[in-house]
Amino acid sequence: MKSIKRLIKMTSALMILMVAFSSATYAALQPGGPSTNGNTNINSTLSYQEVIKILEDIEGSSKGKVDVFTLDQYGKSEQGRSIYVAKVGKGPQKIWIQAQIHGNEKLVTEAALQLLKTYAKSGEKDVEKVLEESTLYFIPMYNPDGAEMNLRQTKLTDSGKLIDLNRDWTAAGFEAVESRVVYAYWADVNPDFAIDLHHQGFKQVYGTNESTSFSLGISLAPDGPTLPSIGYNEITKQMMAYVYDELKDYGYTHIDRYQVGVDREAGTGYDIDIRGGVVSAMMMGLNYKNLNPEGHSHPAVFFETKGNTSESSLGQKSNGYLTKQNYLALKSLVHGYVTGEVEKVNPDDWYNIPYYPLAGYLTDYNGVIPAGANSGY
Ligand SMILES: [Zn+2]
Repeated sequence: MKSIKRLIKMTSALMILMVAFSSATYAALQPGGPSTNGNTNINSTLSYQEVIKILEDIEGSSKGKVDVFTLDQYGKSEQGRSIYVAKVGKGPQKIWIQAQIHGNEKLVTEAALQLLKTYAKSGEKDVEKVLEESTLYFIPMYNPDGAEMNLRQTKLTDSGKLIDLNRDWTAAGFEAVESRVVYAYWADVNPDFAIDLHHQGFKQVYGTNESTSFSLGISLAPDGPTLPSIGYNEITKQMMAYVYDELKDYGYTHIDRYQVGVDREAGTGYDIDIRGGVVSAMMMGLNYKNLNPEGHSHPAVFFETKGNTSESSLGQKSNGYLTKQNYLALKSLVHGYVTGEVEKVNPDDWYNIPYYPLAGYLTDYNGVIPAGANSGY
């Protein structure tokens, strides 16, 4: 009896899995959530032109501290928009912060701009320390076409094909011009560390009824199939544990680990191991067209904020605190990295961040890998 029940349970779990990871719903499990065309009112979020205006204002009032420029020398977006970068700081450690690679993930751009403004204006000790020790490269709107269309992807001009820019940094080559532009610039900068900013749909913190406001993610799962062999297994865990400790007591935050395919009933979830994601490719030292011949690589992490314009789940009332938690997480992680505080964290503290017991890994190279298996890299 018991074993039949178990068999039924296993079979239904397997069916859920098959449905969950079929191609039709695969997109719903990607970082950032579903990719349906947006129909939410986005008047409260920043347009491309507004972002340019804010960047120019920040540069103008920064007394020479902030340098704003485009990547036009490498190319423009599919629809001919310039991709903007803001550079601040004078130190040797290079920190890369990118937002809105998914055009329907809006508040992260605001958070990045707020942090840039802090670096431009604040004279506080922690900020000055960061600017002495590091140079920060902000790309507040990686996907301007998607942002203007309120769409996760960009659209290829020739074919009309939609391309997820966060699956386009592959050794086989890039489909969208935005990928070629940003990759070429990344290979010129050679950063030491990167943070990537996203939004996700609704989920709940494991073992609670609290709606997750913020998820901490590593796109090659710690202790998973890929990361241990490329050297960033410990430092990425330390980074996320550091952010968790800094933010967990901040009002309104309910922080957990980024996972997909969460099954509340079974109490399980999947980590991702996505090698074609931009920050994964950075960690793996992608050398495309010999632009990165020395195979430069560096650790990278991502944040996921609750709510997505495509799901009508981005309430204006909550925008302020959702933006603020992003701002605070970014600010504290940059400071912790620059001062070496991050390296003092016990990597095992990563497991203090709430997470669903691991069922396996969702990959973009070998389907679903059950927990415990090791595909090697
Ligand atoms: Zn995203």
